[in-house]
Amino acid sequence: MLALEDARSRLLARVRQTDGERVALADAHGRVLVAPSVAAQHDVPPFANSAMDGWAVRAADLPASLDIAGEVAAGAATLPEVRAGTAVRIMTGAPLPPGADAVVQLELADEDGSRVRLPAVEAGTHVRPAGGDTRRGTEITLNGPIGPGALAVLATLGVGTVEVRRRPRVAILSSGDELAEPGATLGPGQIHDANTVALAAAVREAGGEPLLLPRVADDADAIEVALLSAARDADLVVTSGGVSVGRHDHVRAVLERRGTVNFWRIAVQPGKPLLVADLDRTTVIGLPGNPVSALVTFELFARPFIRAALGMAGDGRRHLLVTMRDAVEKDPERCAFIRVAVDARLEAHSAGGQGSAQVRPLAGTDALLIVPIGVRATIPGERYEAILIGEGGGA
Ligand code: AMP
Ligand code: MG
Repeated sequence: MLALEDARSRLLARVRQTDGERVALADAHGRVLVAPSVAAQHDVPPFANSAMDGWAVRAADLPASLDIAGEVAAGAATLPEVRAGTAVRIMTGAPLPPGADAVVQLELADEDGSRVRLPAVEAGTHVRPAGGDTRRGTEITLNGPIGPGALAVLATLGVGTVEVRRRPRVAILSSGDELAEPGATLGPGQIHDANTVALAAAVREAGGEPLLLPRVADDADAIEVALLSAARDADLVVTSGGVSVGRHDHVRAVLERRGTVNFWRIAVQPGKPLLVADLDRTTVIGLPGNPVSALVTFELFARPFIRAALGMAGDGRRHLLVTMRDAVEKDPERCAFIRVAVDARLEAHSAGGQGSAQVRPLAGTDALLIVPIGVRATIPGERYEAILIGEGGGA
């Protein structure tokens, strides 16, 4: 059994980054910039403007009753001049008219026909200077997948298209004679295929593009044909099932015969039978069939692989120290990833049964509690590192 870190570095040594492609900003959500540093194309804001609805004035004139000399709204292209002794009505975001050096907010004004009485203000009050947020040419670094905030920054900087890494294509192949489509009526001996949909979502969440292959039976020839075509089309092939020691575990046999096995079996609980191989020039990650093992090992191996192909290091998850409240037994020979619910005080409780075939607790899982080799059970009250997965929606 290979230790987690050794196994993961052997896998990640195989990663090739994907090429860049140019996309419109509207299509850039969730993508990763090839060059994370972006230069402002112009000052932000591009011109001095008002932070308030009010009156544009010369501060030196005030306090006084001033002549109203016009109005300027947001988006105005021609501007009235603010001469000595006059004020111009101004809206938030409107360009500061020439001559003005301050804005008096509407609430402080006493308007009467063609005149307005205004109190004293300092020059610069409620004026947003050109470049006050960002100066033209300033470099801004946007690491990680582009979210709503980064999109706002890019649009504001004057960026209309961005070069992003192509999403790694991840073929997903579930195998097993017993598997039926979700929603199908089960025949004798059948169970619903949980892994295909779950792994496709995990691929998307990691930044990849899932390629769903038709499920295959426990048939060595069918598995070989499917694996070879997946290896041709994809940047990474993820299989589930068939990597254990049973008579019908053909995925491993096919990869041993047609590819090169990099490693098999890791000191991780759940997920011991994990297999990593090369098939032609494509990496294949053979996940165990139990849905819990498949998702945990995807998290630990396939997710960092996909991120590395996008140029991002690590798992991109928040790692927290949490206080475990339950005693949970584990295999002392393996590092365990215990499914836990974590509350706002960073207290963790077991999400339910920890068997690798127990899927239901995934519904209440916020985090994977990391319990190292050598430990037989968690100690209530003790603190452990936990990987926060998902955003409150469970694994
Ligand atoms: P295997 O790794 O093929 O030995 O499968 C281990 C366990 O996981 C068996 O109980 C399988 O029925 C189950 N299993 C395999 N693939 C899936 C799947 N796609 N969805 C749900 N359970 C599965
Ligand atoms: Mg099987």
